[in-house]
Amino acid sequence: MYLMRIGQPGAEKPIVRLNDEQYVDVSDLVGDFNEAFFAAGMADLRAAVAARTAAGQVTRFAGERIGAPIARPHQILCIGLNYRDHALETGQAIPDEPILFTKSPNTLVGPNDDVRIPRGSTKPDWEIELGIVIGRRAGYLADEAEAADAIAGYVLVNDVSERAFQIERGGQWTKGKSCETFNPAGPWLATPDEIADVLDLGMTLDINGQRRQTGTTEQMIFSPTFIVHYLSQFMVLEPGDLINTGTPPGVGLGMNPPVWLQTGDVMELSMDALGTQRQSVVAPR
Ligand code: ZN
Repeated sequence: MYLMRIGQPGAEKPIVRLNDEQYVDVSDLVGDFNEAFFAAGMADLRAAVAARTAAGQVTRFAGERIGAPIARPHQILCIGLNYRDHALETGQAIPDEPILFTKSPNTLVGPNDDVRIPRGSTKPDWEIELGIVIGRRAGYLADEAEAADAIAGYVLVNDVSERAFQIERGGQWTKGKSCETFNPAGPWLATPDEIADVLDLGMTLDINGQRRQTGTTEQMIFSPTFIVHYLSQFMVLEPGDLINTGTPPGVGLGMNPPVWLQTGDVMELSMDALGTQRQSVVAPR
């Protein structure tokens, strides 16, 4: 199943995408794709969507704003340096264990919403990533099989970053990751059964039509199930939590000389099975 939310910010309604032309409105069945929804599981929704599809209750949603496919989560967790080549381009060692940092949940925006440069920013940067959405409460998972069972689906994300805030302002990375609009997500959440091999997803990111990042999840150091099992040993994951799993090479920080986002730039992201995004970069407010 492909879950989407459409409508204006704060008033999105949940729909299920059958394909690019056909959608099933489920807003009368589901309040939102939020913690309670994921905790309850998707069996009822699958049955309802199958029945409505069979009955021809299919519609189009051309031209409407697409929101993030999940409601604001309890937390956004991020894995750093999870692609070998990206670790090398940033001059850092390949990690022995996943590097973890957090990102404010209110950074979440739609896949085509504007990304706003924060005040005082000098080094805004891009990061295409595979996002994991948690499907049930998960603490001390026994193994990676249990972790797989705790994954509701996958989503394309842009882990937008401000490198000066992240690296030059002391302490942890969170300051450079939590600025408003810094986590575009979507257009849809794909449930695991829609993805043949989550470790074989190609991805690209273009800035103003110029290819900057090319990668595949095959290059990940730590797989999604490894990450979910690992994190559950340190904290309780909640249904609807989002985990950004790290970015492949080609970020502005890794270029020589480095290149940073400018007002007016356009970021276009694409990942196999997870759709495309397009964000305009806008000036500080
Ligand atoms: Zn990242």
